[in-house]
Amino acid sequence: MADIISMGPDGSLRVPDEPVIPFIEGDGTGVDIWPAAKLVLDAAAKKCGKSVAWKEVLAGQKAFDETGDWLPDATVEAFRTHLIGIKGPLTTPIGGGFRSLNVALRQLLDLYVCLRPVRWFEGVPSPVKRPELVDMVIFRENTEDVYAGMEVEAGTPEAEKLRDYLIEQFGWKIREGSGIGIKPMSEFGSKRLVRAAVNYALSHGRESVTLVHKGNIQKFTEGAFMNWGYELVRDEFQGRAVGWDDCDGKPEGRLLVKDAIADITLQQVLTRPSEFDVIATPNLNGDYLSDALAAQVGGIGIAPGANINYVTGHGVFEATHGTAPKYAGLDKVNPGSVLLSGVLMYEHLGWFDAATSIVRALEATIADKIVTYDFARLMDGATEVKCSEFASAIVDRL
Ligand code: NAP
Repeated sequence: MADIISMGPDGSLRVPDEPVIPFIEGDGTGVDIWPAAKLVLDAAAKKCGKSVAWKEVLAGQKAFDETGDWLPDATVEAFRTHLIGIKGPLTTPIGGGFRSLNVALRQLLDLYVCLRPVRWFEGVPSPVKRPELVDMVIFRENTEDVYAGMEVEAGTPEAEKLRDYLIEQFGWKIREGSGIGIKPMSEFGSKRLVRAAVNYALSHGRESVTLVHKGNIQKFTEGAFMNWGYELVRDEFQGRAVGWDDCDGKPEGRLLVKDAIADITLQQVLTRPSEFDVIATPNLNGDYLSDALAAQVGGIGIAPGANINYVTGHGVFEATHGTAPKYAGLDKVNPGSVLLSGVLMYEHLGWFDAATSIVRALEATIADKIVTYDFARLMDGATEVKCSEFASAIVDRL
């Protein structure tokens, strides 16, 4: 019988065999990719004796057309109550009072981790020589940094007021006519992100966590992020994890926590990807890094993502690309991103058999060169199929 997912007293998720999971179909290509992903997710769950009671909730254009609201309270409440949900891409309303619906959802549910696993699937066309060396899991901080949305526009009274204050009180030199943004990064926000990354690395048998920051320049935000990260490892993970400086790079059976400057990281993930495993990083670095890494393993058409609060148990799994409006309704685009986000969700729920069977079937489909347009244009001898046909081909190989 369908039931809701809840948090057990030990802080882990209690998942019934038929959980109720809210989903947002998504705008634009959401109408194509969601049904395709659902077909595969349902078939894989069924094979493993499980099923999902999907519950549609509205957000984005569809919500606006039906309710006059871009992000109805009922949708936020459904995600709050059911803990785990999944969504397709959403149009960013212009002048709708939201910076972005995705950001709003993350802030309302305090989903402080943006989880982006990046790995290569056999056969996927890639611009690099050894894509199989890319196997990283990015923990991007999701609530702070320049994404907090605190900025004032050049030439407005607010910008002039803030500029005057900073000149007067701090003696800072700020050119007239500047827009000004604020970059808040707290000890609380940094530590809970690094804690989540270290816990994940330990529970998934990973070898290292790299704190990626820009602390050489932004000492009291990005530099503090690194310092707080190392402090957390010393205070909370003694005997299980160790910082680089505390062990001369020799962790001796413990998880190694190291750090790297963001700009050099963007080079090294290309030149020596095997040195990176789990990555913990502030919001903006994480944004750049996630997409740069996704490109190495086949692009945003198949990059999965999730936004998670490990304390409350809330998680929203999502396609990482946008609505690609020019392809909407054409049954053309790759459903891989939302499908693999569903796989990530199944893993998060402990449904490892179903998750693994989907990954194997996806790899088998690509190995048979049955792919959507985005891969077909990069592969020799591929058979280009529609979004829905790609999903059926995966189901056939489950
Ligand atoms: P986009 O929708 O991600 O599309 C950019 C390009 O990425 C597409 O033209 C296409 O490349 C490729 N692409 C996207 N989805 C694909 C898929 N499923 N399979 C294969 N290729 C795919 O970005 P955008 O055009 O900048 O943004 C459109 C709208 O989406 C905006 O309203 C934006 O705010 C919103 N958005 C939402 C999210 C989200 O909800 N998470 C994220 C980003 C953007 P080709 O043209 O080369 O085929």
